Amino acid sequence: MKYLPQTHNIPYQLAQRRQATPAPENPTTAWNSFKGNAHVIEALFYRQHGLCAYCEIELELMADKGIGRHIEHILPKSLNSELTFEYSNMLLSCFSSGGEITATANDPAPISCGHANSKKANNWDVSLFIKPTDNDCERYFSVELDGEIIPHPQLTSNETQHAHYTIELLNLNCLRLKRLREEIIIEGYNIINELQGSSVALENFLKLEMSEVNGKLREFINLRKQHFR
Ligand SMILES: [Zn+2]
Repeated sequence: MKYLPQTHNIPYQLAQRRQATPAPENPTTAWNSFKGNAHVIEALFYRQHGLCAYCEIELELMADKGIGRHIEHILPKSLNSELTFEYSNMLLSCFSSGGEITATANDPAPISCGHANSKKANNWDVSLFIKPTDNDCERYFSVELDGEIIPHPQLTSNETQHAHYTIELLNLNCLRLKRLREEIIIEGYNIINELQGSSVALENFLKLEMSEVNGKLREFINLRKQHFR
């Protein structure tokens, strides 16, 4: 999970719309009629350094490229009408609406993050959910060598419960994500081993892993920080 600090820099179109309709009677209809999505997507994309705030996979600005993306209401707008146009309740999540990948026998539940069935169901427990907008969200998670995301071993039992709940809710341990994370870990450690003889090359590699290029970070940045820094 990538921490998403709050900002006062709210896209103009969204601020205008919120002022006009602070708590729409029918949030879904109101949201679907909003014409400023592209501005919100671009603002969120750069605020999130090009990564899905939940799983940290790389996103693309163009809707038809990569895994797709959508504006996600962190707390559901259907239950919180006043948050329909509230920027602090939004983030960019992987998958476009209608652009989700299909389940296979090997990976029966490949959809994660905002479009995960459990998250979309809107009947989840807000008090147990760790949000990317929580300023200490990143410390709750740790990634094992096999790519599994687990509650950080140093958490209290109460915090562990929150982390477990959030991982399940967002389906962050689907096979697809687990495999991607495992590949990065294996590849990273292989490179580190190969570069053991050259401290300059190793330092350059580690620096590149953490670096930001054109406002974008490497995907799964917290995994990289945990394992390669
Ligand atoms: Zn995601």
